[in-house]
Amino acid sequence: MFDTVVIRTNELCLKGGNRAFFENRLLEDARGRLRDIPGLKYRRDQGKIVIQRDGVLNDDETAAIRTALSTVFGIGNWSFAAGCAKDLDVVAQTTARALADRQGSFKIESRREDKSYPLESIQLSQEIAKRLLPLVPHLTVDVHEPDTTITVSVLKDGMRVQAGREEGLGGLPAGSAGRLACLLSGGIDSPVAAWRMMRRGCRAVLVHCHSYPYVSDASIQKVRRLAERLAEFQGETLLYLVPISEAQQAIVAKAPEPLRVVLYRRFMLRAAEEIARRNKAHGTVTGDSVGQVASQTLENLRAVSAVATLPIHRPLVANDKEETVAIAKRIGTYATSIEAQDDCCSLFMPRAPELRATAEECAAAEELYDVPGLLRAALEKAEKVEFRRRK
Ligand code: ATP
Ligand code: MG
Repeated sequence: MFDTVVIRTNELCLKGGNRAFFENRLLEDARGRLRDIPGLKYRRDQGKIVIQRDGVLNDDETAAIRTALSTVFGIGNWSFAAGCAKDLDVVAQTTARALADRQGSFKIESRREDKSYPLESIQLSQEIAKRLLPLVPHLTVDVHEPDTTITVSVLKDGMRVQAGREEGLGGLPAGSAGRLACLLSGGIDSPVAAWRMMRRGCRAVLVHCHSYPYVSDASIQKVRRLAERLAEFQGETLLYLVPISEAQQAIVAKAPEPLRVVLYRRFMLRAAEEIARRNKAHGTVTGDSVGQVASQTLENLRAVSAVATLPIHRPLVANDKEETVAIAKRIGTYATSIEAQDDCCSLFMPRAPELRATAEECAAAEELYDVPGLLRAALEKAEKVEFRRRK
């Protein structure tokens, strides 16, 4: 019965003069995903995005809209709605149809966008309720904690009836901020870290370091599937696959054993920064969280950060694992992340990793092998893969 989708933006009201820019981004994102549904018209309307059609959306279309909007960043919440004539009986009938498959209680809220409408909002709600109640005997009214809130908007050229609200992902529209190079391991944390930055409007360029052919290509396969999933949110997504086994072998042969993992990480960060530069990205992202594993002590994070020339963003730095796992499940990366894999970092793992490395001892160790040469070679052999949203 619905012919309208009303999208309320998240936070965008804070953006002053840039508001149009953010809203247009969001509108274009929604339009791109819904292009297979014929006849939709889009407009920005007082901080909302309204999608409308002459003609009711069928079940397949409403399902497709629901699926599409569930991966759009920048939506606070959204609703299906139905337009109807400015006639109280018609509004009541339309509302009854909107409530047909609902259970429990409801309340009506009215909004007058057309200020010349003769009834005040409260009167209007009461008049509609009076006509509606006989049509929905399966429901009760509860103005304090209703299961469904019906919003009736008085527009210039008609009424709009909206049933309930669906939560959006929040954040800012995809690609409304600049690019970041995200170090993606195939574990649970890094896809969530990338996603969190993507949700703030950053475009994630993904970087995975692997030791193929010294380990199986399982981590590459996993990371490809993670990239595919992340592309559902941000659209076009680049993944760089960087072979680091030569660097690892040099580190194993030349550097003190306890420093290996920190030295791998410093190497990875340098690779990510180079890829960031090539893509005009403003920084890097990792899934580190303080104290989670040996490589993530404050000291080791500092020793890794010491090689950075761009800002490193660590959106999970203060997360408990459970919090990150909950997000991973919600965004659909968890099942892939927990598949067993040979990790490039488990290759030549030190028996007793250093918990308190210093930047100075790492730099001294790096004098023993050719960091710039190995980096150049790794980046030359790096493979670039492109992912698109499935629809
Ligand atoms: P994750 O679940 O993201 O793998 P983790 O808790 O296992 O995190 P580490 O393995 O210490 O932690 O990795 C810390 C961060 O370093 C990762 O979140 C990721 O950003 C980066 N990283 C680790 N391994 C790789 C890799 N092979 N390629 C790219 N980045 C990596
Ligand atoms: Mg890991």
